[in-house]
Formats: sequence, C-alpha cells, structure tokens
Amino acid sequence: MSAHKVTMIPGDGIGPEVSLAARRCIEATGARIDWEIAEAGADVMEKYGTPLPDAVIESVRRNKVAIKGPVTTPVGSGFRSVNVALRKELDLYACLRPCKLYPGIRSLHPAIDLVIVRENTEDLYAGIEFDSGSPAAAALVAKIMELDPKARMHPDPAISIKPISRKGSERIVRFAFETALKTGRKKVTAVHKANIMKCTDGLFLKVAREVAKAYEGRIVFEDRIVDNICMQLVQRPHEYDMLVLPNLYGDILSDLCAGLIGGLGIAPGANIGDGVALFEATHGSAPKYKGLNRANPTAMILSSVMMLRYLGETSAADRLEKAVAKVLKEGKAVTYDLKADRNDPTAVGTTQMADAIIAALGQGVHV
Ligand code: NAD
Repeated sequence: MSAHKVTMIPGDGIGPEVSLAARRCIEATGARIDWEIAEAGADVMEKYGTPLPDAVIESVRRNKVAIKGPVTTPVGSGFRSVNVALRKELDLYACLRPCKLYPGIRSLHPAIDLVIVRENTEDLYAGIEFDSGSPAAAALVAKIMELDPKARMHPDPAISIKPISRKGSERIVRFAFETALKTGRKKVTAVHKANIMKCTDGLFLKVAREVAKAYEGRIVFEDRIVDNICMQLVQRPHEYDMLVLPNLYGDILSDLCAGLIGGLGIAPGANIGDGVALFEATHGSAPKYKGLNRANPTAMILSSVMMLRYLGETSAADRLEKAVAKVLKEGKAVTYDLKADRNDPTAVGTTQMADAIIAALGQGVHV
C-alpha cells in the first residue's frame, strides 16, 4: 500500500516535543506515512508575519489528514487563536474527545469511558467581538436598544456574539448519533443552558431533540443543563456515555473529563469535517514546560492512535494503543504528572516515555 500523506504541525510550547514523540511512535508501528511538516504558532510569527501562514491551511486541504501539536494563543490581546482559525477555515465542525481511563492511572472513579462531541465552529468562539469603547460596540449597543428597548447594559460594554444555528446544531448532533452507532455507544446526552439562553441554547436543544427522533429505539437521548452535569460528572460519571455540546461548554467539559481520566497529559482528540480531519491533544502548549522534556506525550500519542484508525491502519492503531496501555499500567516509565508524587525522581521525560512505548510495541504487547 502506498504511504499516507499527512500534514504535521508541530506547534509551539511543548508542541514540538510531544509531536516528535508521537511521530516516532507512529513510525515504530510500521504504518507508512509521508510527512509534510507545516509550521504554525507563536514561534513563526516573526518569520512569516502571521502565526498561521496560508501554506499550512493549503497543506491540510491537500492532504486531508493532519496531526497538530498545541499552539499558544495570547490571553486578552495579540493574535487570534490559530486553533480556532484552523477549525473554521477547514470547517472541522466536530471535535471528538474520548475520555477513557486506562488501568494504572489514579482517578476519582474506576473504569470511566465516555466521549465528548464538541461543536467547533460557532457559539462564543465565532470570533465576533467588539471592544469596549469602540465605535462598532457603541453602534451595536444603539442598534440593540432600538430592537429591544428593555435591554439593560452598563455603559461601554465589550460584546461577544454567540451565534448558534440550526445547520451547526443539526450536523454536530447528527455526527454524535452516527459516531455513537458506529462505535457501539448506547446514549447521547445534549448539554445546554436553554433555561437561560432560550434563543441560542434553546435552538440547539430543539434541534437535538428533532435529530434524536431518527435514532429512537437504537440510541437513548437525554439532555442536561451544563452546570448540573458538571456536578454529576464529578460524582457519577458512569451515568454518561456520549455528550454533545456547543463549543464553549464542550471546551470546558473536555478539561473536566480529562481530569477524570488522569489529566490533560492523557486526553486525545480529533477535529473532523467532511473528508478532512486534524488530530490534536486536548491540552494546550503548557509554555512553562517548553523545552524541558517534561510534558506527557500520551495525549498526542493517543491522538495518533485515533489518526491511524481514521487512515484505516487498524492493526497499527491497536498495537500502539496496547503499547501505551502497557506503559501506563506498569507506571514506571511515565512522566511526572502520572506519578503519585509530582516530584517523584523516578519520573521520566517526554522522550523516555516515548522510548518505553516504542519498546513495548517492539515486544508485541499483550495487556
Ligand atoms: P495547557 O493545557 O497548556 O496547560 C495547563 C496545565 O496542564 C499545564 O500547566 C500543565 O500543568 C498541564 N499539562 C498540559 N499538557 C500537559 C502534558 N502534555 N503533560 C503534562 N502536563 C500537562 O493550558 P493553558 O495553560 O490554559 O494554555 C496554555 C496555552 O495553550 C494558551 O496559549 C492556550 O491558548 C493554548 N491552548 C492551545 C490548545 C491547542 O493548541 N489546541 C488547546 C488549549 C490551550
């Protein structure tokens, strides 16, 4: 079989380290990948004048499959998120984040296995924002007062717009149900705040209920208010199977669920559109660990497992996942975040954990 052409975006912060670890593990499976390296993020700002050169988007469009290390987004000011831009440009509307607890990992609860499906293109992440004191914000406030004279705002508010559409809601909920069917999941829970945001979240819930009807008898459907499910996930995560959420709640609950399965160092993910997919860990660029060989490469390596499955490399994916599971279960050659004591001197570095996973692969692991 010919090699799969895949774009690799190493990212910045800890991105290049965990990306290299993932690449070495993928190559050790024997799967044939023809890598196209595309640079994006804070480190290329100076060189290209933008954190997301057009060549990066073109590379992913051409190859249709990409794997990406995290990219830093400045807080409050500075350039807009490269991650959000990539998802929007490529219309990667579905973010799939499995949260599975592997044996050997310390956790609040045993045997967690749930999946988050996050809408990726709209909601408060649409990037439609107006600065406090700007003429545009003032004009918008004036228009809102004209349309709704009862609206109350303090002077000079900054405004973020939260668009939620029928199209966006329908395709993400359908994606969740179809994924549930393909992967043997039994229940989909739609998460919202429709009691307060009756228009936006109300539409999301209404559409979710409509879509769910087509799956009646095959997949159970229910809904939960977002604050309530946060508490329930901490206390009784086993009651959930697959969650489907608008963008912002999906972002927040992804980290909450990562906390249930050992932390951000473990949680993998994929951003999927029609005929194109970009795989990346849930975690960010953790700048304080940049270049220290400390970051846990597992989330990136499990994202690689998802990518191998997507490419049809099922045997390579299964073997790599088993190798990761073996190393996690032994708990020896793991990074600091997986040790009971974070200062445990036996913790290994990013490279050494990848070495251990590659060694387990070579032994034809049996877990
Ligand atoms: P973060 O996920 O980078 O890090 C939060 C903390 O989690 C870290 O300080 C560290 O303690 C832990 N952590 C994260 N990844 C780890 C790993 N692989 N191994 C061990 N510990 C790990 O979140 P943040 O600090 O909120 O964000 C840092 C930057 O990353 C920001 O600029 C943010 O915008 C960006 N970000 C990017 C992405 C992405 O590229 N998809 C996602 C989230 C955040």
